[in-house]
Amino acid sequence: MILPVHVCLEELSLAEKESKWEKPAACPGCNSQRFWGHGYRRAHFVESAVGVWVKRYRCDSCSKVFTTRPSAYLERYQSSTKEIVNARADKLTNFKWPSSQTRQRAGQWLRRFICFVQSEYGLISDSTPFVERLKNLYALSCPFLSKLS
Ligand SMILES: [Zn+2]
Repeated sequence: MILPVHVCLEELSLAEKESKWEKPAACPGCNSQRFWGHGYRRAHFVESAVGVWVKRYRCDSCSKVFTTRPSAYLERYQSSTKEIVNARADKLTNFKWPSSQTRQRAGQWLRRFICFVQSEYGLISDSTPFVERLKNLYALSCPFLSKLS
């Protein structure tokens, strides 16, 4: 279980385990306030050459372990949400992948994005040209994108 926290990745990488972690208000699983520190775990991000230590907590009520994560990074992504959004916008507006990203990585972001939009908003008619479908999907996802920034 991931708990996004407002923390700077650069500060985390410099401070290692000495970072001052603000204790979360409640367990994200059961909303209990009875939880304790449960060590650290290395998390890897594109911007840091080596992994950074992130704090873990264990809830006494539901026994779940949750890990903090910089809020600028979505769960299961090593790149920041800003990079992901910019790469997709480049592809959908300029029809090219951004030079700062590999085609494979940026393509995966776009495929996952399309899957998300289709699951949220349903399939768009196949008679629409592919680029128009992508643009429509992108426009439909504005509520999702606004949550990321
Ligand atoms: Zn809990």
